[in-house]
Amino acid sequence: MFKWNFRTRILVSFLLLITFALALLGSYLLWYFYQQNLASQTAHLVTNAKITEQLLEEYMNGPREKASIDDKIKELSTKIKLRITIIDINGAVLADSWENPATMENHLQREEVQTALMAEYGTAVRYSTTIGQNMLYAAIPIKRGPELIGIVRTASTLAPVEADFSNIRSTLLVAIVSSALLTILLSARLARKYTAPIEEITHAAKQIADGDLERRVHIRTGDELELLAHTLNQLTSNLDDKINETSAEAKKLSLILQHMDNAVILLDRYGRVTTANRKAREIFDISDSMIGKHSIEVIGNSLLNQSVHATITSKQTTMIDLKTNIHGSKRVFQVFFAPITVSESVIGVLSVFHDITTLQEIHERQIDFVANASHELATPLTSIKGFTETLLDGAMEDPELSVKFLSIIHTEAERMHRLINALLQLAKLDSQEYRQQIQLEPTAIEPILQTVSQELAPHAQRKNQSIILEPSSAPAAALANYDWVKQVVVNLVENAIKYTPEAGTIYLKYWQEDHQVFVRVRDTGIGIPAKDLPLIFDRFYRVDRARTRTAGGSGLGLSLVKFIVEMLGGKISVESQLNAGTTFTFKLPAAQ
Ligand code: ADP
Repeated sequence: MFKWNFRTRILVSFLLLITFALALLGSYLLWYFYQQNLASQTAHLVTNAKITEQLLEEYMNGPREKASIDDKIKELSTKIKLRITIIDINGAVLADSWENPATMENHLQREEVQTALMAEYGTAVRYSTTIGQNMLYAAIPIKRGPELIGIVRTASTLAPVEADFSNIRSTLLVAIVSSALLTILLSARLARKYTAPIEEITHAAKQIADGDLERRVHIRTGDELELLAHTLNQLTSNLDDKINETSAEAKKLSLILQHMDNAVILLDRYGRVTTANRKAREIFDISDSMIGKHSIEVIGNSLLNQSVHATITSKQTTMIDLKTNIHGSKRVFQVFFAPITVSESVIGVLSVFHDITTLQEIHERQIDFVANASHELATPLTSIKGFTETLLDGAMEDPELSVKFLSIIHTEAERMHRLINALLQLAKLDSQEYRQQIQLEPTAIEPILQTVSQELAPHAQRKNQSIILEPSSAPAAALANYDWVKQVVVNLVENAIKYTPEAGTIYLKYWQEDHQVFVRVRDTGIGIPAKDLPLIFDRFYRVDRARTRTAGGSGLGLSLVKFIVEMLGGKISVESQLNAGTTFTFKLPAAQ
């Protein structure tokens, strides 16, 4: 990610700094020594020029003999080891210790000569092609009184100065290179010392960022780095705590959500399903591939989408009753919507589905039941009221009519009595508290059938019917309650008597198969039409109201029978053929 790491940067910075400082210092020293050498060399040349001027005074004042001047300076030159040149004011070379003056060009334009013409002396450094070296020239004017009569120029090679210069330069270079090497070594050690804690912190921070929240940094530098490491450790443990807290919270929430008995669906602000709990998936058949799809596609109801929209716009909780059809059966849900807001804006909606199908059904059934019960009670009561009024209006005077009307009133009162008894029994069985109190014990079936057939024999005899208890291969006992099993058999046999014409027969039978005890009540009566068979166990259901009313039925008998059998853990079934007979068979768990 980074081109250079921190350690390399420190190393390079140190190196550059030291090298630059040394180079600067070295250059200055070099320049200083060179200038010093040049100055002393110049002073030496000027002094010698002045001496030469003095020595040549006699040659220059009189008539000038070039040859003698030339001889003189050649002699001088060998002594002082300098090149000496004498130039007249026109620039013509009069004498030169190294060259033949006749062959030399005019020297008036030479830099040092020009300066010397105007000042005390002039100097110049020039490359001499003749000797292939840099030369230092110094020129002074030769004066007679105030008059300028010529120029004395001394020159020497700069080779010794340059040799010194290059010596110092090499020494300095060696010094710079060795101090650079030393710097590398030292700064590497220093860099390691300073960057090691930073590297440790960086490494730890990377591991922490990668999720290792157990990682801690241990640094004892006693400076800001130690504070940084300490702060990082604190930050990590805080983060660890927060993450643990959050994940525990999330786990709790997810557990609650998954094990809730209500379906919970989270929708985004566009009405798409983002999360659905186990119950929601069960009820609405939501598979993983459906997550992310629109609620209309998933639930198949636009009312839900409207409510989601309303919740988002109003930012308020809402509640609706949602009637829907799942796998062909009607379901009613009370749905609660709550907006999920993050910094003032709604990002989604939480919807909780409360299944009120059963409640709704119970409610509807209760309304039906009250209406039916009232109707059933009103009919005999109207009859009783009518006959009583007729009697009071004068029919009482006629003894024959009185007896007839009073017997009708009695029959109707009996019907009401039976109806109220049945209602009381139902109310009793409806109470969960009562149902829990019922003791289940081994209950022999044969004595029940015998008792019922004996008790109802008079009723049967009135219609010239016979009740036959069919023989059983072995006695059987159910894990049940004597009174309630007897009630079931009584209701079935009463019905059999009621709906079997004169001289019919009612057969009672029981047997055991595996862990079940079966009881059968069969008659040779009028039978039940096939279309009514699935409904006869419903409360107040009667196949033919007119016919059953004369028979004194209320429509509650079979519903009580079914309720009791199921309460005892059993099941009841019916088979019937019109005008041939009806067979009711119920089974109960056998006693061990
Ligand atoms: P009810 O008090 O009217 O007999 P039940 O609930 O006992 O009410 O029976 C419901 C209906 O089932 C009756 O009205 C009757 O039409 C029919 N039913 C019941 N038992 C028999 C039977 N053994 N033979 C023919 N029909 C029957």
